[in-house]
Amino acid sequence: MTLRRLLLVLISGLAPVGARAQASGPLAAHQQLARDIYKELVEINTTTDANPGGTTQAAEAMAARLRAAGFAGADVQVLASGPRDGNLVARLRGSGVAGRKPILLLAHLDVVAALREDWSIDPFTFTEKDGYYYGRGTGDDKAMAAIFMANMIRMKREGFVPDRDLILALTADEEGGDHNGVEWLLANKRELVDAAYALNEGGGGFLKNGKPFVQNVQAAEKVYYDFTFEVRNKGGHSSRRSRTTPFIDYRMRWRASRSTTFRYR
Ligand SMILES: [Zn+2]
Repeated sequence: MTLRRLLLVLISGLAPVGARAQASGPLAAHQQLARDIYKELVEINTTTDANPGGTTQAAEAMAARLRAAGFAGADVQVLASGPRDGNLVARLRGSGVAGRKPILLLAHLDVVAALREDWSIDPFTFTEKDGYYYGRGTGDDKAMAAIFMANMIRMKREGFVPDRDLILALTADEEGGDHNGVEWLLANKRELVDAAYALNEGGGGFLKNGKPFVQNVQAAEKVYYDFTFEVRNKGGHSSRRSRTTPFIDYRMRWRASRSTTFRYR
């Protein structure tokens, strides 16, 4: 399958891409499937703190759907990257005729915390209202996971054989936590996810009148930083450097593994 064809297949799996709902009319069977998966994923609380084990629950639910669609044996696996952190890896076998490495479809299952009192609705009840979907993870990243899932199932059911393998990985601890699924898979199960390249969140697409209109591609990834600011005395006029102007340590931590301290006087 060419990349263009793949992208069109992927974005046509669910009428909306992201949290925008279809305006009206009944959904086609494959769209209904995507919506059902989307709902199921949003309603499984996968916040690491509030529901440890949530990503395992979600990964198992997705594995059950894939097995029911005909994926078997080692082509669908739930793997633990930590005590309560489940990751799904599934493979649609290609013909291999082109001799090319697989394409990896990558999305994360976990979501950041959502407190009921901060929301006007229950964040873990999938809600469609005024043309939009509401619920924790509707945008980040369960729409993507649902679209990938629905397309894997649809391709399997229709007997579609791509010219290379397609791998789906739905992972834990992308938003935080100590057991990042992608890192764990690369370190421990590289053969399951080894690919020519991966399609991951960060771009996004839009439909216009029900047709693919824009597909953004994010070609590089942002890097995470924490900053700690320390004021060492009560200060003076900050725009005029003098002995009374406080100096500030900019203490930068990069994923808590690399540490650099800059001093600014
Ligand atoms: Zn995300």
